[in-house]
Amino acid sequence: MSSVSVSQFFNFCNIRITNQESEISSKKFVLGMHSDNRHCPHCSHCGTKMQKIHSTRERYVRDLSLSEKKVFIHLRYFQLFCPQCHRYRVEKFDFLEPSNRYTFRFARYVHSLCKLMTVKEVSEHLDLDWKTVKNIDKHFLEEEFGDTIYDGLSILMIDEISIKKRKKYLTVIVDYATGRIVWMGKDHWASTLDSFFEKMTDEQRKAIKAVALDMWDPYIKSVRQNCPNAKIVFDLFHVVKQFNRAMNTVRNREYRNAKKEHKKVIKGSRYILLKGKRKLNQNEKQHLKELIEINKNISTTYILKDLLKELWKYKYLACAKKALAEWTRIAKESGIPEMIYYARRLNKYSYGIINHCKYQINSGKIEGTNNTLKVIKRSAYGYLDPNYFILKCKQAFPGK
Ligand SMILES: [Zn+2]
Repeated sequence: MSSVSVSQFFNFCNIRITNQESEISSKKFVLGMHSDNRHCPHCSHCGTKMQKIHSTRERYVRDLSLSEKKVFIHLRYFQLFCPQCHRYRVEKFDFLEPSNRYTFRFARYVHSLCKLMTVKEVSEHLDLDWKTVKNIDKHFLEEEFGDTIYDGLSILMIDEISIKKRKKYLTVIVDYATGRIVWMGKDHWASTLDSFFEKMTDEQRKAIKAVALDMWDPYIKSVRQNCPNAKIVFDLFHVVKQFNRAMNTVRNREYRNAKKEHKKVIKGSRYILLKGKRKLNQNEKQHLKELIEINKNISTTYILKDLLKELWKYKYLACAKKALAEWTRIAKESGIPEMIYYARRLNKYSYGIINHCKYQINSGKIEGTNNTLKVIKRSAYGYLDPNYFILKCKQAFPGK
């Protein structure tokens, strides 16, 4: 064993290093430590000085690695009587929690890795149980993001994300101005949102000027009840997403009824119809042209989609109302059942489309948040522990 000391790497307070053990072939490095008896031990619970030793204990504590070796501290410590707590307590150390099997600095390192890697990757990298990795990261996240901060909110974006293979939902509330995830809660009902608004003061609720939403009645109901001054705005991203579903139903029916030679044109066109015109390559543009030529209903639906997007470009109320009425007329006259149904739906929710004139919500912002949340979800956090998933989402959107 080398005579060069490693103590400089372990400059913890009130500690004496007693020995070090490491075999060349082993991947472990064990450092023996005990409390420096020149210092009076303090209670790990209340910090009071203690004197009467009850017993000596020992445990192994994981610390930061040295070179490729995993470092364990073999810690011997006292249990003493605390005059303040009136019971036996273990002595306090500045480098670890009394109940943990890792040092503070090791925990901070795990947390910093979790910002860059998945729990599984960190677990494999450090050769540490994944539950320990998750619990360490969750502990830090709770300190940083556990509280809901209601101050300064004026425009909210409310969305939902499905977890556990679409059987369960989480509601997400974002501060539109900063992009910060303010709150996330289980389910997607009016009562879900109520539980968020209930904790706000009257002043904070009155300060909410607008809320961007999907056309989802439970959310609408809760916003109307809780935010007396809020205008409800339906954003383009969610409306088009719903329209795409209707468009796909039209396409599927047209495929079933099509002549054999037309079937091959309709087949595989779903993606082309969903994608923006500008994003299509030459082959896709040609495919779209053929599709529009051979099928009137698909062609009409496609035009209606383009016109629908235009509705969000108006800045004057009267113009927006007129354009919406025109859209509804074309949709109804098309005779396509899905378009007639959709026109009725848009009329029911027309107030939220018109409100967009006053509150120009950037749909890309909503789409961006939505996509990032899906990426976090795919990292498997959500399936294991919804509370941890919520904290990871809040960490990903801390706000500017
Ligand atoms: Zn105490």
